[in-house]
Amino acid sequence: MHNVTLIKGDGIGPSIMDVAVKIIDASGVKINWEEADAGMAAYDKYGTAIPDQTLISIDKNRVAFKGPLTTPVGKGFRSINVALRQKYDLYANIRPARSWKGAQSKFEDIDIIVIRENTEGLYMGLEHYLTKEKDVAESLAVITRKGSERIVDYAFKYARDNGRKKVTLCHKANILKYTSGLFLDVGREVAARYPEIEFDEKIIDATCMHLVMDPHQFDVIVTTNMFGDILSDLTAGLVGGLGLIPGANIGEDTALFEAVHGSAPDIAGKNLANPAAVIMAGVMMLQYLGERDAANRIQAALEKVVNAGDNVTPDLNPSSRAGTIEMGEAIIAEL
Ligand code: NAD
Repeated sequence: MHNVTLIKGDGIGPSIMDVAVKIIDASGVKINWEEADAGMAAYDKYGTAIPDQTLISIDKNRVAFKGPLTTPVGKGFRSINVALRQKYDLYANIRPARSWKGAQSKFEDIDIIVIRENTEGLYMGLEHYLTKEKDVAESLAVITRKGSERIVDYAFKYARDNGRKKVTLCHKANILKYTSGLFLDVGREVAARYPEIEFDEKIIDATCMHLVMDPHQFDVIVTTNMFGDILSDLTAGLVGGLGLIPGANIGEDTALFEAVHGSAPDIAGKNLANPAAVIMAGVMMLQYLGERDAANRIQAALEKVVNAGDNVTPDLNPSSRAGTIEMGEAIIAEL
């Protein structure tokens, strides 16, 4: 029996998480789901977006399965996603983008893993105004040797353990000579320890162009926090959008699994949300928990349903009459 903290989240979160939990339970894996609140739902209930009970639950279980959380833009509470990544030092964010037969996209046969440093850089939240008038603002990016080394090493180990051939490190060291420069220097040192894996380094703007013009040259990409956030949406776009991209946040002793997409308030409560990304996040969680057989079976059932294209949400097939619930039922029937 595994103990997992379950945060259903905001907007479309509860509907897609209910489907994902039902599918995982139907696979036969024994999970004791400990439900906890976070985000807007928690803020409305307890006056805090991350109640102590939720942190106590994650402290105990060390594995969390989380739906998307709404974050107010430009004001209000800080992103809970960022806070959780920092509190549990979830330094590696793995975001795979793969082509699907059943999803319309501009390219075929894409298989790119973005590995993003998740705790440093411009997302540390070190922001403030420099003047009383609030007309000059400053944001600090912090890059450390330790943080750079462990994420690039994670990327090379991931490549080695998953039969991958190449790691591309993305940076902006031509302009950001200290921060991005340190990341690149450390990256080169780590790469030298893995001669069996091809190493490439690319400036971030060139990477964006190459990803759009010739994405098949990419295999594993490793990069700093904000670049990774942006690049992984770009790779999502190459394979048909955010509805199909899961994300794992991995630390030394804690891991949190979620979709890359947000709470999609525009379609919340309409049975329209595609549950595939959180289902795949569940698959990544089962792999992490050592439940490889169940993970493979769920992935195969999901692929069958998505590729058949009848019982899928409208973002995958606009003429489909199925919604979130029906897609979940079809996957369970396949299982
Ligand atoms: P979003 O990802 O929620 O939505 C972008 C677009 O994609 C919308 O049109 C939406 O309908 C669509 N979409 C997203 N997920 C979908 C799904 N599963 N099925 C079908 N369509 C889907 O991004 P946003 O609108 O910029 O953000 C909304 C809220 O989510 C914000 O408060 C933001 O901060 C938050 N957010 C949270 C996370 C997270 O919890 N990890 C990640 C990104 C954004």
